Amino acid sequence: PPLYKQRYEFVKDLVRKYKPKRVADLGCADCTLLWMLKFCSCIEVLAGLDICATVMKEKMHRLTPLPADYLDPSERSLTVTLHQGSVAHKDSCMLGFDLVTCIELIEHLQEAEVEKFPEVVFGFMAPSMVVISTPNAEFNTLLPGVTIFRHPDHKFEWDRAQFQSWAQDTAKRYDYSVEFTGVGNPPAGMEDVGFCTQIGVFVKKYPQTREPVKCEKPNEAAYKTVSTLSF
Ligand code: SAM
Repeated sequence: PPLYKQRYEFVKDLVRKYKPKRVADLGCADCTLLWMLKFCSCIEVLAGLDICATVMKEKMHRLTPLPADYLDPSERSLTVTLHQGSVAHKDSCMLGFDLVTCIELIEHLQEAEVEKFPEVVFGFMAPSMVVISTPNAEFNTLLPGVTIFRHPDHKFEWDRAQFQSWAQDTAKRYDYSVEFTGVGNPPAGMEDVGFCTQIGVFVKKYPQTREPVKCEKPNEAAYKTVSTLSF
């Protein structure tokens, strides 16, 4: 399967394993991952955040409830909310999540945004689990035509040592543990370069001590709500 599907399947496997009820996808783009997660019956709340409202709206219709979703209303309730905003800003609508995913997001962030990102995601949102994926620069030698970065919008691409040291510093600062893996196996004989996509899975060390704070005052909101669907 193509690499993006392997990344989404990786997240889906984690969801099947840990059964989070509330999942937020940061940098959700056209909401494909959210759409896939909608079929995981453990999930009750799904939220997407992206800086670009246009890309979020492109295929948003896929998230609307299907007739079958109403046939057995006893099954579960699912609320999907899409927000336009930056991961560099805090908004209380992102509090209380069990899993936060950041798939191929960080390499698109400006330097100032990368600096704020850990405090927003790990310090403020503080979910039980965070998944971050990003290209592994060491794999680039195997990709024909890639001279500097894989995509013109990438602000950086980290090798494994760079990603892992950033992730370990972040985990330490916010009381998480982190383990590394990836998707996209290198060809036989080239195993040294590692996975094409590197992934860090962060788990919060101490269980939630406070109740999630809910935002009631709209003037506190840094994000704009693009869509809310309940079914
Ligand atoms: N997660 C999706 C996936 O794996 O297919 C999309 C990844 S796409 C390469 C990166 C996304 O991050 C884009 O949709 C972009 O608009 C979004 N983005 C860039 N900077 C952002 C920011 N500061 N806050 C939130 N989203 C941002």
